[in-house]
Amino acid sequence: MSKYKPTIGIEIHTQLATKSKMFCGCDNDSRGAKPNTNICQVCYALPGSLPVVNRGAIAMAIKMAIGFNSKIADVTSFDRKNYFYPDSPKGYQITQMDQPIIQDGFVEILVDGEFKKIGIHHAHLEEDAGKLTHPEGSEYSLVDFNRAGTPLVEIVSEPDIKSPEEAKRFLQEIHNIVTSLGICNGDMEHGNFKFDLNVSISDTDELGTRVELKNLNSFRNAERALKYEIKRQEDMLAEGKVISQETRGWNDAKSKTFAQRSKEEANDYRYFPEPDLPPFNLDRDFVSDIQKEITVLPIEIRKDLNNLGLSVDDQDLLISQPNTASIFADARKILKKDNLSKKAVNWLVGDYQAIKSGLKKDKLSGGNLAELVGLVDSGEISSKIAKDIFRDVCEGDSPADIIVSKGLVLLSDDSQLEEIILKIINDNPKPTSDYRAGSEKVLGFFVGQVMKETKGQANPSKVNELVVKLLKG
Ligand SMILES: [Zn+2]
Repeated sequence: MSKYKPTIGIEIHTQLATKSKMFCGCDNDSRGAKPNTNICQVCYALPGSLPVVNRGAIAMAIKMAIGFNSKIADVTSFDRKNYFYPDSPKGYQITQMDQPIIQDGFVEILVDGEFKKIGIHHAHLEEDAGKLTHPEGSEYSLVDFNRAGTPLVEIVSEPDIKSPEEAKRFLQEIHNIVTSLGICNGDMEHGNFKFDLNVSISDTDELGTRVELKNLNSFRNAERALKYEIKRQEDMLAEGKVISQETRGWNDAKSKTFAQRSKEEANDYRYFPEPDLPPFNLDRDFVSDIQKEITVLPIEIRKDLNNLGLSVDDQDLLISQPNTASIFADARKILKKDNLSKKAVNWLVGDYQAIKSGLKKDKLSGGNLAELVGLVDSGEISSKIAKDIFRDVCEGDSPADIIVSKGLVLLSDDSQLEEIILKIINDNPKPTSDYRAGSEKVLGFFVGQVMKETKGQANPSKVNELVVKLLKG
């Protein structure tokens, strides 16, 4: 165990899944569009053009605030961050500095079986920049402004994260929240969800020098980069070296962090209130309408699944698939009992995952899943039959309808079964007297005969019980 304790804070950039851009009517989805075709005078801030705040983006930020247990600002405002770089068509970015829409919240992460709160310092709306490409061997760069003006929310955590594992879980939990609430598509390969990690180590109560790891977009790499960086800083301190405040990148191929720029080169962005957008009040009716749209938060599902004793992997799987989670929620309401609900989860994380991509139509409902679990539990069908019909259930058929139409109902009726068993006892005097003389192993013979007689449709536990009862006479 190292004497140094790490302190980690994270900034996450999430791209909002709105229809249009942050301040104009341009399409927010430029996939497949030719460079510089999805732009307008607002994207460029041409003289005379004025930005208009996207109501959909505000609604999504409010949803995020609810997911983060945050205060929703009464008044929110935008600021101008000035910088000159070829990816910015305006020479500035509209962002939120003084009155961000999301203030002071927390999310809960599950670490080593315990829930831990990680503070959210704030989260603010802003617009994305364009995209630069540098063709190999050429002396020029190309710029595509289609992405300029895309709405982003930057989420800033408190430095409450104490290990690379906690950092990974925090990122996964935020990803769960923004994707399950429909705020962000969460496609990490396409930059929908990327993050910067701030890490320092210290062996006292005072924080050490902070290093920023920039632009990561994979949970696994976040954990690896932090582990590497913590070790690097420990080794430096052990050698008596001084850690410098700097920005570093992550080289995946070499599994190393590398220096990018030092603190001295930090820019002065000359922030000032955005003159084209006055501060505005967030109407409480608008906020409460959005609140009503959210029926369940991922953390509530996680706590429920955790209480049912499900592994973190199974929890993650269910939560990361909002449709599957909602099938479970519906089944849970019907089944109520924990042991039956757990059986429903087992279907969802097991057989359902194995066959879902090959289904003709994926129409599994919570009602049908609950019915299937109930039929097995009451002994009306065996788990073997349940497995056999599961594909049809996933394609939308009701289990009860399937077993009736295919004649699969287990024979559980006492009087019917007793009649069959008595006949077999009468026809087989030798095994009967063997049993009565103490040979228990002939039981299997009788059960087998009943199964043969009923073509495998007798309820096995019922048959066992009745055979013993009738043989004892
Ligand atoms: Zn535009």
